[in-house]
Amino acid sequence: MGFDNMANKDTVEQFLDNNPQFAKEYYDKKVKAEVITAAFNNQVKVKEPTSYKDVSALQEAEFIFELVKEMQGTEPMEKALHKILQRIALLIQADRCSYFGCRARNGVPELSTILFDVTHNSPFNINLVNPNVEIVFPTDMGIVGWTAHSKKAQNIPDVKKDKHFSDFVDKQCKYTTKCMITAPIMNEKEPIGVIMALNKQGANEFSKSDQELFNKYVNFASVVVLLAHTASMWDIESRRSQVLLWSASKVFEELTDIERQFHKALYTVRTYIKCERYSVGLLDMTKEKEFFDEWAIKLGEQEPYKGPKTPDGREINFYKIIDYLLEDKEEIKVIPGPPADHWALVSGLPAYVAENGFICNMMNAAADEYFAFQKEAVDETGWTIKNVLSLPIVNKKEEIVGVATFFNRKDGKPFDENDEQITEALTQFLGWSTLNSDTYDKLNRTEWRKDIAQGMLMYQSTATPNDVQTILVNKFGSGPEDCDQKEMYKLANIPEAKTVELHEFHFSDFPLSEFELIKCGIRCFFELGVVEKFKVPAEILTRWMYTVRKGYRDITYHNWRHGFNVGQTMFTLLLTGKLKKYYSDLEAFAMVAAGFCHDIDHRGTNNLYQTKSLSPLAKLHSSSVMERHHLEYSKTLMEDENLNIFQNLQKRQFETVQHLFEVCIIATDLALYFKKRTMFQKIVESIEGIPEEKEKVNYVSNNATRKEIIMAMMMTACDLSAITKPWEVQSKVALMVAAEFWEQGDLERTVLDQQPIPMMDRNHADELPKMQCGFIDFVCSFVYKEFSRLHTEITPMFNGLNINRGEWRALADVHEAKMKAIEDEKKKLQGGDAQGERRCLKSHSLLLILIFALSPGSHCLPHLFLLPVKMAGRQRRVLSARPPGPSEHL
Ligand SMILES: [Zn+2]
Repeated sequence: MGFDNMANKDTVEQFLDNNPQFAKEYYDKKVKAEVITAAFNNQVKVKEPTSYKDVSALQEAEFIFELVKEMQGTEPMEKALHKILQRIALLIQADRCSYFGCRARNGVPELSTILFDVTHNSPFNINLVNPNVEIVFPTDMGIVGWTAHSKKAQNIPDVKKDKHFSDFVDKQCKYTTKCMITAPIMNEKEPIGVIMALNKQGANEFSKSDQELFNKYVNFASVVVLLAHTASMWDIESRRSQVLLWSASKVFEELTDIERQFHKALYTVRTYIKCERYSVGLLDMTKEKEFFDEWAIKLGEQEPYKGPKTPDGREINFYKIIDYLLEDKEEIKVIPGPPADHWALVSGLPAYVAENGFICNMMNAAADEYFAFQKEAVDETGWTIKNVLSLPIVNKKEEIVGVATFFNRKDGKPFDENDEQITEALTQFLGWSTLNSDTYDKLNRTEWRKDIAQGMLMYQSTATPNDVQTILVNKFGSGPEDCDQKEMYKLANIPEAKTVELHEFHFSDFPLSEFELIKCGIRCFFELGVVEKFKVPAEILTRWMYTVRKGYRDITYHNWRHGFNVGQTMFTLLLTGKLKKYYSDLEAFAMVAAGFCHDIDHRGTNNLYQTKSLSPLAKLHSSSVMERHHLEYSKTLMEDENLNIFQNLQKRQFETVQHLFEVCIIATDLALYFKKRTMFQKIVESIEGIPEEKEKVNYVSNNATRKEIIMAMMMTACDLSAITKPWEVQSKVALMVAAEFWEQGDLERTVLDQQPIPMMDRNHADELPKMQCGFIDFVCSFVYKEFSRLHTEITPMFNGLNINRGEWRALADVHEAKMKAIEDEKKKLQGGDAQGERRCLKSHSLLLILIFALSPGSHCLPHLFLLPVKMAGRQRRVLSARPPGPSEHL
């Protein structure tokens, strides 16, 4: 039998009456508004029934038709449902009826009022519950809860005698429930709502026929609710798939930068996440701090971190927040280094989610006792936080890389399980996206490494047997490997330390050839006594020293001569400067070796240039770009057994050497100088206050951190030592440094099409003396002054510096006098003093730049003296990704 044959309304009604099960099943599974429309295409006018007595079967059929019409229209489901509830109230003489919707949050099912206190003639807009005032209770509460839980209709003649009854809602509404009748609305096996009728008028309980009538109308209600439910599920499904689709396309579009990826995905899905705002906090992925960031904590100058940590042990640090404000006009705010009282963080919920990995779905956030959400408006828009859904973004390694928090669903209702699912799908995707990026990143890193390796090959190869033999000759003419090493060096013509003034602070490499400097390098290790102590084979030491030399490129300043000078100064600080007493032989060995290696494979351009020119090195290292490269290069040499001067060390000793190489070489990044100088000064002051010599030594040598800080400052003293050399050396070296800067400036102009800063601009060459004075005053003076305070043996360096300061000042004065003469001349010609003022301004602003550049954390730093910008950094890499495990719920 088909519906199309049933034009007769009575027949329809009769049929539905007699086959409620069929009707329900049919509607449950198949019904579509269009089908029903097609079946009932007659217009039927429904009269407003005046009393239940007037209700006839015909009217009832009319009522059903009206319902059907409403269902296919654009009216909300609640409107049709309201009609049904009114009808029920009328027919079974219930005092009032209500409809509760089922939903789940945090995995817990609950019921909320949707249509409340419907009487046979109460207006819809009064009965429809505003989400702000809905009554919510769990399904283990009350008879309505029990109806949803048991999925069975209930007819309770006296609620006081029913164990499931709860007066929770009665109390809230100041109402007394006596008897009630309820029925669940089911979708397949799950309840999606409960219809309830209260207090039979004119009787104490609902009769059996009331129950039948009630059930009949519940069936109609089911159709209405199911239709709406299907539509909303479809909407959710399509949103879910769109979220995935969009994230996918956007995520795969941008593969290089995780942040941009997150941002793009989140931005694109904003229309599908129906909420007023969301905020994404990105977590610092650093597991271990840089050695220099731990100094202050180890010295007790900074409180160790005591806050919550991620499950994998990271400190919870939201290094950046992206806020999506979608209430009225869209706005996206990126907040690097957000303050702890930022509105999205201040509650502590994102940190909690990052700590536990939970998905947290909270309604009425302001009332929460555990998390202190901002109750007032968070900003000038007057927007306040109501409902919150927060969830972790987890990568493949199950590491939490960020926290996404969604605020205030647009319809005012709390977030439900569908929102949880939709956002979880999104955050999963973001987690996966880090996988892609990571794979890609790894691939690229391999590529970059290859580029770098190729670059290295061009400049460097290990010393050939011939090279080695030029140093290690023996009288029998056989290969060096057959020879006793001590014997060999005796014959090898290694210069005596005294002859070349190797122990002197005023040592100059000028009289020596680059080849002789290799031999001098070897001599340093013999003078230190480490060759025999650590069983360094002569051939290996020779080959290593030769290879280090070859690792330096033939550039204007950062060449082998500079590398050698740093190693030599370290050697001199240790022995002549008597700093050796704080360090073991092994440490001294590593420090001098690191000094020789510290600028290996330098390209004559600074860190900022690497970043700006997108060099492979800048892609590989996010901070201290060049220094990390020098370090890696040096470590690569150690990996080659033919070059490894540390090959006869025990494992622990070898690890110590590797660590010291890191401290020493990274310390030459001048950007870190400003981090360490106060700590260094405090150590010097403390030592000064210790009367006993033995105690002084113990104070340093028994404390690894103090040793590291002094060591790091020694590296700076070595690296800048040219400024302390006799004037005839310094004046030449300064020109070489400047020449290399100018070459970089030329590159910036030609390759990058950028105007170089004055220091690198050869058009400003005549300002060199003034810049040198600034450099001495703001950077160098401190270093040598403090070292002279620490050990008077080091005073020659400070003296040398001061002499050079005088020389540069004199030159600067000459230049300035010349400039002044020129300008006075101009002034005379022009008859005004505008020029003079401008000049004044100019030198004033240079001073400002200097001061600004030298304040810690300043981003101007790299522009000025020497080096690198990217302060140890914000730019973190998230390692990899897999979908998160089963999410835990609160
Ligand atoms: Zn250097």
